[in-house]
Amino acid sequence: MLESQDRRLRQRDYLLRLARAMAAQLDAEPLLNLVIAQAVELLAGNYGLIALINPASMLEIRAAYGLPASGWPAFNDMLRVLDVEGPQSPRLGGELATAANTLNLPLRQAVALPLVVGEEQVGILIVLRAALNVGFTNDDRQLLGAFVDFAAIAVNNAQLYAEAVTERSRLDEIIEQSADGMMMLDVRWRIIRFNAAMERLTGWPRAEAIGRPCAEVLAIHNTQGINLCLTACPLQVYPPEAHPAIEGWVTHRDGHELYVGSSYSATRDAAGRFMGAVANVRDLTAQKREEELQSTFISVMSHELKTPVAIIKGYAGTLRRTDVQFDESTHQELLTGIEEEADRLGRLIGDLLEVSRMQAGGLRLHPSEWDLAELSGDVVSAFAATSDDRFEFQLRFEEALPAVYGDAERIRMVLNNLISNAIKYSPNGGVVRVGGWQDGTHVMAYVSDEGIGIAPDELTKVFSPFYRVDNRLARETQGAGLGLYLTKAIIEAHGGRIWVDSTLGRGSRFIWTLPVAALSLPEVKPEVGPAAAATDSTAPAATAPDSGNDSTSIIKTTPNSSEA
Ligand code: ADP
Repeated sequence: MLESQDRRLRQRDYLLRLARAMAAQLDAEPLLNLVIAQAVELLAGNYGLIALINPASMLEIRAAYGLPASGWPAFNDMLRVLDVEGPQSPRLGGELATAANTLNLPLRQAVALPLVVGEEQVGILIVLRAALNVGFTNDDRQLLGAFVDFAAIAVNNAQLYAEAVTERSRLDEIIEQSADGMMMLDVRWRIIRFNAAMERLTGWPRAEAIGRPCAEVLAIHNTQGINLCLTACPLQVYPPEAHPAIEGWVTHRDGHELYVGSSYSATRDAAGRFMGAVANVRDLTAQKREEELQSTFISVMSHELKTPVAIIKGYAGTLRRTDVQFDESTHQELLTGIEEEADRLGRLIGDLLEVSRMQAGGLRLHPSEWDLAELSGDVVSAFAATSDDRFEFQLRFEEALPAVYGDAERIRMVLNNLISNAIKYSPNGGVVRVGGWQDGTHVMAYVSDEGIGIAPDELTKVFSPFYRVDNRLARETQGAGLGLYLTKAIIEAHGGRIWVDSTLGRGSRFIWTLPVAALSLPEVKPEVGPAAAATDSTAPAATAPDSGNDSTSIIKTTPNSSEA
């Protein structure tokens, strides 16, 4: 009697220690190994198995004692029987013998107990003995029963923990992969998480951003440079807003500015005190620029449209006066004024339509093969006929220039824009040159002038919509700042590029490329042999002459032009 009491006390003590060890272990795999090793030891067994119910509701071995993983499939039939008929199944012995045979191991006695949490069975635990004559007693079963109750809870906790870890890493992955910037703030507004998109948006590496105040890293500011995160943080409003958000400019660490919208979701304690927040930061630069463009568009257009209309109205009003007798030349002058302003209005409306067409779905080209030198000659002749004699026009195209492939009418517009700018921005006149040469798969063409030139920091800006260099001449001349924007769009729609070289006060040279027709539309030609091929005018030139090189030939000049 005393002996059995003593044994029970020792067992209780043992179970308690075991329970503590199991509760301390949150990783499922080491915990299962610990449980099965202890169960085998507790019952003086030789082998043991733990099978858990997997997502497909089947028992699946997850840990074993004394049995290598390669041998686990030998127990599949036994597990199926236990699953269907329960741990007391009379077929357990038979199935065990089959597994013993397959594995060639002395598996002779088995005791199986379900792992149950609450009402639900989560798995099964089996202890095996090798000895023939030592069967499991009821005492053994009771002892294992008490142990299994602890084990089931510990295993279940470990599984819940593993699920939570998986869930968290999935969440981490989502946060990390999010296209929007996401950061988490602690109770003191310091950054505790910073995803990859945040790194891209701000240029701050997360290692540096974490631990710093969000107002320092994000530092959303208005156009006056006032840090809104310090002066107008939406999380510091009382009473708290339902959807705190802020928009403004952010300076990337490389110096470029971007416009962002940052929305927050704050956590607060029962007393409403701020406990932390998650910020979602979205790059709105494109939309902002679009909005700005729209408002510039309206102000530029209303100014540009109003001016010729006012002039036309003024001329017409003058012509209608009955109290004045105009001589024929004044009459003609007033009518010419009306005509010129109407033309300007027409061009402006044309540009506007072109821009809106472009924004609605890109430029539609009607390409064909044609000669760029010839088209340039036509355009230059028209300018030469109408411009004053301070200007001299030269055409400098390589003689064997191949045909280009493109939309001739659009390229005529490009030439018109570039040549009219060359004239407009050359207040003292000078030579306007238009030329080109072949450069591999492209024809390089240019329009140069000897006008006021463009400062280095304006060289790329002049291609932006509505951009006009702020100088006296730009203020005095008419223009909406759309010409070069459209020119660039047309050239790029052809697969070409355009840029400008310039020296302030000396002049500018706009250079652009167009694809060579023979390369764009490969023609199937009969074999001609090396001699004939050498005379093929569409074959790429071995060396492309420089545009300023004197080897370029003047194929056409206006009557008053001379070779430079
Ligand atoms: P616009 O001439 O109507 O102002 P553009 O888009 O054609 O518009 O040109 C944009 C700006 O680029 C002009 O306002 C002018 O300041 C500058 N620019 C264009 N062409 C030249 C040039 N050939 N020489 C000097 N500045 C030029």
